[in-house]
Amino acid sequence: MKSSKTKRAYKYRFYPTDEQKRILAQTFGCCRFIYNWGLSTRKTAYSKHGQKLTYNDLSAMLPDLKKTHPWLGDVSSVPIQQSLRHLDRAYKNFYAGRAKYPTFKKRHGNQSATYASNAFTWENGQLTLAKMDGPLAVTLHRDLPKGCKPSSVTVSKDCANRYFVSILMEEDIKPLPVINSQVGIDLGLKSMVILSTGEAVGNPKFYAKDEKRLAKAQRRHAKKKKGSKNREKARRKVARVHARIHDRRRDYQHKLSTRIVNENQVICVESLAVKNMVKNHCLAKAVSDVGWGEFVRQLDYKSQWYGRTFIKIDRWYPSSKTCHDCKHVVEDLPLDVRAWVCPECGVCHDRDINAARNILAEGLSVSACGGSVRPVRTRVRRAAPVEAGNSRS
Ligand SMILES: [Zn+2]
Repeated sequence: MKSSKTKRAYKYRFYPTDEQKRILAQTFGCCRFIYNWGLSTRKTAYSKHGQKLTYNDLSAMLPDLKKTHPWLGDVSSVPIQQSLRHLDRAYKNFYAGRAKYPTFKKRHGNQSATYASNAFTWENGQLTLAKMDGPLAVTLHRDLPKGCKPSSVTVSKDCANRYFVSILMEEDIKPLPVINSQVGIDLGLKSMVILSTGEAVGNPKFYAKDEKRLAKAQRRHAKKKKGSKNREKARRKVARVHARIHDRRRDYQHKLSTRIVNENQVICVESLAVKNMVKNHCLAKAVSDVGWGEFVRQLDYKSQWYGRTFIKIDRWYPSSKTCHDCKHVVEDLPLDVRAWVCPECGVCHDRDINAARNILAEGLSVSACGGSVRPVRTRVRRAAPVEAGNSRS
């Protein structure tokens, strides 16, 4: 069985001492400053001189910047450098169409700093960052892989003032034993996923469940005097509700994606224009709440880790409107129609299960054709039954 070195991040919560908090706050601030400085420098260079600055250009300006802003020298230089790398990646993602144009980092948002391997020590499971005299008190709620060294470490603080460390490990992930089962997945709102086996897995709607709690916290926050201690307390309360929603959703997605990858050799999903759906404001909340994008991302990388085949189908394939049994495509199928009878073969379909089965069939044929070529089977079938006396000649 082949295995390959894969980078995998392990995220743990940790509880810094007051001194560590102080150093981290300073480091986060410097990283944010450098990121924003890099972004505005790149923006200005482009708008004024049509010049596209690279990571190396910005990096070369750092020594001068440190002279005019000597406090940058108070923190480890490694996370500062990494900050420029993050900016570079943000630009690359933008140019590749994977992300929006980078934005400035805010003091109140998530804070983070990345330490490359020359800026931390890792000894007997103890992590000590540069410029700190003691190790971080990390809660290792699950074991790190044995015999691996962390290649980098990212420390972060969320809006609810919780600290996390994400340890990037390079390890051999053994593929799972090959099995026979294959699955097609339809993504929905009433049920989060519908499998081609007929199983519907519920949509727990974590946001909707905590919406009242959140609204209450937000009302309280709005009433507090700006700049007051009570306002900060209320802000943290709002952030904690958000964090709780996020954590529960993430946990649910991980459990489901791991289960599906464990149980199936081939996994077919329809790629969704989730962003476009969020623009529909009637559905926006519900669509964001269900979190398909992250779920599909997890299926993708976990399939790669464990030697599964993950197939994404282009979104214009009419998976709902095609009869799985005879491949007839119906003209129109409004969203509220949950079950329909095929006019061609008379089979009664559950809308979502039929779609999931079509997604599986489509995915398998796409992968058999070896790539993005989509077979035109549906169109051929559709033209076949012609009514007598309907000739146009
Ligand atoms: Zn049919």
